Amino acid sequence: MVYNDRMDKTIFEKIISGEIPAEIVYEDENSFAILDIAPKSLGHTLVIPKSPYRTFLEIPQSKLGQYFTAMQKVAQAVKDGLKADGLNIVFNTEAAAGQEVFHVHAHVIPRYENDRTDMNPGTHQTYSSPDEMKEYAEKIKACLK
Ligand code: AMP
Repeated sequence: MVYNDRMDKTIFEKIISGEIPAEIVYEDENSFAILDIAPKSLGHTLVIPKSPYRTFLEIPQSKLGQYFTAMQKVAQAVKDGLKADGLNIVFNTEAAAGQEVFHVHAHVIPRYENDRTDMNPGTHQTYSSPDEMKEYAEKIKACLK
């Protein structure tokens, strides 16, 4: 089957269509947000436009407003829900910069004073259980109601 002239859906399209499970913390008409399975810090969230633009540079200007509005809303909820002192908000763009999933996504990473979070590629933290991951998702969702 040809899907939008591409051979396959991206992993994030499979998540939003329900084919792959994820902790979805936010969804509107154009965007959604999930917890990253390999978080730089617990609560690390990805904000994703439903349209599978390949990188940040391919998002049409006319779509940036709605996407950034969703991203700011989710970022505020991550900060408030997890009582973070700050956030890193990052778009890895192209493989040379560490992009692995070619469906644009913003990383929203909660940070705490002196937390020593390792932002280097290939490093991540781990949830102790699916329940712990769900608890983080619920705290973020509570701030999006
Ligand atoms: P990037 O390297 O910027 O393309 O980031 C891709 C991110 O997607 C990584 O941080 C992965 O841990 C994350 N990721 C990949 N597959 C999944 C998934 N099924 N559910 C949640 N996050 C995922």
